[in-house]
Amino acid sequence: MKITFDGAAQTVTGTQHLLNINGHSLLLDCGFFQGRRQESYERNCNFPFEPAKIDAMILSHAHIDHSGNLPNLVKQGYRGLIYATPATAHLANIMLIDSGHIQESDVEFVNKRNAKKGEPLIEPLYTQEDAALVAQYFRTVSYDQPFQPIPGVVARLVDAGHILGSAAVVLDIDEKGRKIRLWFSGDIGRRRLPLIRDPILPDRADYMIMESTYGDKPHREPEVAFEELQQVTERTLERGGKVIIPAFAVGRTQEIVYFLHQMIESRSIPSVPVYVDSPLAVNATDIFKLHPECFDEETNALIRADKHHTALGFDRLIYTRSVEESKALNGRKDPMVIISASGMAETGRILHHLRNNIENPKNTILIVSWQAPYTLGRRLADREPRVKIFGEEFEVKAEVSTIGGLSAHAGQDFLTEYALRVKGSAKQVFLVHGEAGPAGALRAKLAEAGMTNLQYPEVGSSVEI
Ligand SMILES: [Zn+2]
Repeated sequence: MKITFDGAAQTVTGTQHLLNINGHSLLLDCGFFQGRRQESYERNCNFPFEPAKIDAMILSHAHIDHSGNLPNLVKQGYRGLIYATPATAHLANIMLIDSGHIQESDVEFVNKRNAKKGEPLIEPLYTQEDAALVAQYFRTVSYDQPFQPIPGVVARLVDAGHILGSAAVVLDIDEKGRKIRLWFSGDIGRRRLPLIRDPILPDRADYMIMESTYGDKPHREPEVAFEELQQVTERTLERGGKVIIPAFAVGRTQEIVYFLHQMIESRSIPSVPVYVDSPLAVNATDIFKLHPECFDEETNALIRADKHHTALGFDRLIYTRSVEESKALNGRKDPMVIISASGMAETGRILHHLRNNIENPKNTILIVSWQAPYTLGRRLADREPRVKIFGEEFEVKAEVSTIGGLSAHAGQDFLTEYALRVKGSAKQVFLVHGEAGPAGALRAKLAEAGMTNLQYPEVGSSVEI
């Protein structure tokens, strides 16, 4: 059999690995490559294989860097099944349509500029309509339920503890009588993340394709984030301010809501209104509520204890969908928490909330995830004294606070533990989904522990196993 590393090789974006087994082809993930505009456009448009000739595909989880190029795959002729857990299929549907919307608005913006300069207009990579066509190809499989994506391969999805529905893919391959177990980690989560269960560790594998995003550093524990969130919320509410939280609509928003629910339930913070103001976050939360099979024991215990509510719903929690509801928050002076997208404060309703609240020292802007360079979120996290919002300059008088510890990815310690589980059985481990620094650090750490059969494949390279 042959593995070709078509994406997220020596980088973290655009995961895509192609397996050729017994004359059939199986694709693991079909991620969106994110980088400079022109390069992204070319990489995402031009598959290194013919989509129509792929027999089946398995999706590890709904994040766009793993699922985001599915609309192009289908647009270019893929007609096989897409195997995924029910929660992943559900989440991917709304995230892909949202991604189609982003592609369309991006192009609209570029085309306005191109039209002015007399340059040719460009097409979106895919539209919302293209994205909506993906849903019909999903075939959902529960965790641990064996299925046969192509002849000679029995596959199983095991909980990766990364986001709702996330999975590692275990393939038991029979290639003309030769038996091989290949373990594809997907993105590896962490122990004790809010809401979802802990990751399942590999037991035995002949070969493993494994992520290495944070191979160079450990993370702070999720409990630290809980405490910090409690402290910053308490002191902001005490001075009569608002807590404004830019958060990713899928995952981080639900985690923060769940934490606040626990805090209000245990009366460790005052009961104030909590607004989730983002249409995608509201839709995503509905999907979380539909998949209690993915929740951990602690979340189930909260649901049992608070009989009137779900884990992501309580009396003071208000989900706002309409623009009018969102705008109505601008005039409010009472203490509250507002969670809104986008997570790096680049677009979306969060910008209105920041504009309205950033110059009041009673308020807090709370950063709850990593912020990419040059984003408004990063400028705030870097404590720049003045920032631009909608082209207008504002003085940052609100408190700016950051909490760490909520990364959905395993840190170095857990990655090491994960890899060492196959030390006795694996002939090769392929490190993917990591920049050279982190992947190299993980490699060194594993070498120290006596594990040397590691490779760091280049993008587009293949191995015969
Ligand atoms: Zn992910």
